[in-house]
Amino acid sequence: MNKGLLVVVSAPSGCGKDTVVSKILDIMKEDAFLSVSMTTRQMRPGETDGVNYHFISAEEFNRNILEGEMLEYAQYGDNFYGTPISPVKKNLEEGKTVFLIIEVEGGGNVKKIFPEAKKIFIIPPSLEVLESRLRGRATDSDEAIRARLRIAETELQRAYEYDYIVENDVLDNAVSDVMSIIRAEQLRINNMQNKLREVINNA
Ligand code: 5GP
Repeated sequence: MNKGLLVVVSAPSGCGKDTVVSKILDIMKEDAFLSVSMTTRQMRPGETDGVNYHFISAEEFNRNILEGEMLEYAQYGDNFYGTPISPVKKNLEEGKTVFLIIEVEGGGNVKKIFPEAKKIFIIPPSLEVLESRLRGRATDSDEAIRARLRIAETELQRAYEYDYIVENDVLDNAVSDVMSIIRAEQLRINNMQNKLREVINNA
């Protein structure tokens, strides 16, 4: 069996990255796996330990780094976030498409360990649209929204480091764009060699 595809998805807050990926998981079902990160941040209302994140202490987080359990990690705000490497490896071995929804700093480190990973950056149609989405959805203060927009602008600068840019204007279009990227990557010659050999040898 071919090894699965590792896909990094990043986007500023409010661009809908979680929604896009969750729609893709619905479509791909058992062919896809979403990595559950470890974090030192507090659990928010509605979140479940082991589902949204593995909520752990700073000590446990450091221990995981020292034991080589983190594929990548980064500080975001006052908290640390990291990707446990074992489930990623296991699911790639099983041929699945593995998604990491992570911020840009960590995203930059993934290719050091998995050079064949593909990185997708999701952008809003404009900063104005992003601002109105942030104002529409949350109970955040004006100051918090302005801070998120400032972070969004610096994160957008790092989109140049990514392999693909997907605009999330209409959700279904963004989902189908990401699906097209995945399909095209699956059909690359590197990933099709086993199939090709099988056809040639049975000729
Ligand atoms: P939040 O606290 O809003 O859930 O996440 C804050 C940021 O951390 C988001 O951009 C999210 O994608 C990112 N993040 C979540 N898990 C990881 C991870 O394992 N590694 C890195 N580098 N970033 C992560």
